[in-house]
Amino acid sequence: MKNIVPKLIEELKNIKVAIFDLDGVVYKEKTLISGVNRIIQDLKDLSVKVVYNSNNSTITRQMYVEKLNNLNIESTFSDFYTSASITSQEITKIKKHANIFIIGEIGLKEELKAFGHHVVENPSINDYQEIDFVIVGLDFHFNYNTLMIAQRCILEGKAQFYATNADTTLPVINGLKPGAGVMVNAVKTCTGRSPIKIFGKPQPDGINLIIKDLKIKPDQAIIFGDRLETDIIAGNRAGIKTAMVLTGITTKKMMEDLESRIDFLDKNMIPDFVFNSLNEIFSD
Ligand SMILES: [Mg+2]
Repeated sequence: MKNIVPKLIEELKNIKVAIFDLDGVVYKEKTLISGVNRIIQDLKDLSVKVVYNSNNSTITRQMYVEKLNNLNIESTFSDFYTSASITSQEITKIKKHANIFIIGEIGLKEELKAFGHHVVENPSINDYQEIDFVIVGLDFHFNYNTLMIAQRCILEGKAQFYATNADTTLPVINGLKPGAGVMVNAVKTCTGRSPIKIFGKPQPDGINLIIKDLKIKPDQAIIFGDRLETDIIAGNRAGIKTAMVLTGITTKKMMEDLESRIDFLDKNMIPDFVFNSLNEIFSD
C-alpha cells in the first residue's frame, strides 16, 4: 500500500467514489497507460469504489469489462457509465420501445436494444415516417447513405435528433482520429437542426446517475479525466471534485496556456487537481 501524496490526503479522506474517464486516462486504444491498474487497485484497497464514465459509445459495457480484464483491471458491467448506456437510459424515459435509426457502432445499438428499443438497420423510404429518434455517436463506418437516411428521417419524418457525445477527436496511440462530433455536425449541417440533447460529457448526466446509483453526495466523488471541455466541465457541473491527468488529450503546455487566460475562462473548465500521470496520486 502506498501513502497518498500530502495534498490529496484531506480530499481523499471524504472520497467514496473515483470516476475514471477511459481513453487517455486508463488506456490508449488497447495499451494500458503505465501503472494505472496498480493505482486502481490501491484506491479499491482504500475502500474507494471505482467506476468508469466514458464518452466512447462504440462498445458495450460487457465489452468494456473484457477490455479492462485484458489490461489486468477487474470490473463488472455495472461499473460502466458510457455515453451509449446513459443515452439509452435517458431515451427510454422519453419513449419506451422506440424505433431508432443509429449512426454509430455496436455499443450504441446493443445498449439501446437491451433497453427494449428497436434499432432499424436499413430503413427503406417507406420506413422513414416510423422512426422516432435518430441517435448519432462515433461511427467507424460513417458514409453518405447513412447520413442521407438520418437527414430524411428528421426532415421528412418525425424523428427527433439526439447524440451520444460531441468529442471532436479520439485519442489513439500515435495521435488523433476524428470523434463523434464530426458525425453529429454532419447531421446538423444537412438538417439545419441541432441535437435536442447530447448526453455525454460535458453534460453531467452520467455523473449524476453515478451519484444517484451509489447513493453518495457530490463532494464524495472525484473524476479523473484528460479533457477539460468534457471531463472537467462535467465534473464541475455535477459538483464533484475534478482531477486533470496529462496522459491523454491535454498537454502540460495546454495547461500552462490556460493559466495565462484563467480570468477569461469558463470556471467549470478549471480542475481542482492536475497530475502529470496517475502515478502521482500515491507517493513511493
Ligand atoms: Mg478521455
